[in-house]
Amino acid sequence: MAHPDTQSGLAEMALKNIHDGVIITDANGIVEFINPAGVEMTGIGGVPQALGLDYGLVLKLESKEGSELPETENFVVQAMKTAQNLEKFQAVLIVGQSDKRIPVSISVLVIDGSNRIITFRDITKELEEEGEQAEFISTASHEMRTPVATIDGYISLSLNPQTATIDDRARGYLESAQKASKHLGKLFQDLLDVTKMDDSHIHAHLVPVDLTELVKTISADYAQRAADAGLNYTFGASDLPSFRNNHQLSQVVYGFVDPDFMREIMDNLIENAIKYTPSGGSIYVNVRGDGERGLINVTDTGIGISSDDLAHIFQKFYRADNSDTRTIGGTGLGLYLVKQRVEAMGGRVWAESAFGEGSTFYVSLPRISSDEYEKRMIAVRNEQIQEELRQQQANEAAAAAAATAPTIDASAQPMPVDPSATAPAPSMPIDPSATAPPSPVPADPAVAASPPPVPVDPSAAAPPSPMPVDPSATAPPSPVPQPDPNINLNQQNGVQQ
Ligand code: ADP
Repeated sequence: MAHPDTQSGLAEMALKNIHDGVIITDANGIVEFINPAGVEMTGIGGVPQALGLDYGLVLKLESKEGSELPETENFVVQAMKTAQNLEKFQAVLIVGQSDKRIPVSISVLVIDGSNRIITFRDITKELEEEGEQAEFISTASHEMRTPVATIDGYISLSLNPQTATIDDRARGYLESAQKASKHLGKLFQDLLDVTKMDDSHIHAHLVPVDLTELVKTISADYAQRAADAGLNYTFGASDLPSFRNNHQLSQVVYGFVDPDFMREIMDNLIENAIKYTPSGGSIYVNVRGDGERGLINVTDTGIGISSDDLAHIFQKFYRADNSDTRTIGGTGLGLYLVKQRVEAMGGRVWAESAFGEGSTFYVSLPRISSDEYEKRMIAVRNEQIQEELRQQQANEAAAAAAATAPTIDASAQPMPVDPSATAPAPSMPIDPSATAPPSPVPADPAVAASPPPVPVDPSAAAPPSPMPVDPSATAPPSPVPQPDPNINLNQQNGVQQ
């Protein structure tokens, strides 16, 4: 084992030579140390210039869009203030007094409540690579959605007794084909969502909300679906083996979140809970306040997740592969989307599970006090009133301008009856295929009866091979491949802590 002096010497050498910027501050955020990479990236000029300054004057950040980063969205400020660790927050570093900007990923580590270690990494290259990959996926999935919709449409036509006559065997094959094409369509849609989410221009629009009420409303939409699947659904109580003795009711918790993101997060988590819980099981959704954070849990008594899988489920395309999941469709993208959205709001998501017993997914988000909520709501309302006033003034100004403009005397000349003036926009397409692109099913049965361009190959309706006995052979559980290390560019492995 190395001598302590040698160890600290080695540590110093490492800090001096790594490419990541490192700043160490005291509990008040005053810089006590900065490494050479930190000096260069921040453009502060030198170590002495940085020491003794507030970290905010050294590490100057703006949003990814190049605008000022409000304090509520600057998660470094939040982490420093509340002495909470922060992982991989992406922002843009302003280099000194120059115009230069560097996209960075920043982490804050709180040491014993006395020091804070801020590390920041240049992610220019990573973003470029991600951008190229996202563009490819986005284009490819966009292009592929159209033929899939066409296939889906023709299958629907074949299954519709008004437009086709088929025997029961063909019906069975086509129903399997329809299931698979729907799955493919969902996969392409998820891929498009992922590329949208990976787009650095997408960011959370945070507004003050009653988190408990929001989660309750969203999850209530699933009560019927849960009942249809033979599941008990409860909002407001947590009841998983690991905290069975800690039966808690929900509290009023206020948050500063993006409601659209919240809906997508809850949709994915509750849909999974329903999907992976056999009939007769239970689902619990709850919201609690946990110090500075709001804590949501979605708990089920379903098939559970093995500890090996648990470490990977938030990765893009990851699906646990076992006899239970093989028969349940999925794309392995839902939890990845959840993680992206939660982190975009400064939150964390993680899961606990016992294989065969059930799972709990936790989402922890920054919480605001009821006073803060009221204040921000007043600010939001004031902003709305200002906006309405601006709109009203603009309308009045436009009306005044119109009143002073020369007018045509309507009494002197009868109003021309111009059909184009009252008719809907002339460019409105009459072709139903133009207004309803996703489904190629023609509205006109005559069109439907005409030979479809898709070749009707008799061998397709009656495949030469006999019907395989193994249902997994006719309906492969998922066309989604095993996780491809080439695809998982920026993924953190494992469960989020
Ligand atoms: P999928 O479309 O496959 O459901 P997700 O990203 O939503 O994709 O989930 C990834 C994997 O995590 C799933 O394939 C499943 O194995 C596992 N999983 C997610 N939620 C649950 C749950 N509530 N119970 C058991 N397993 C789950």
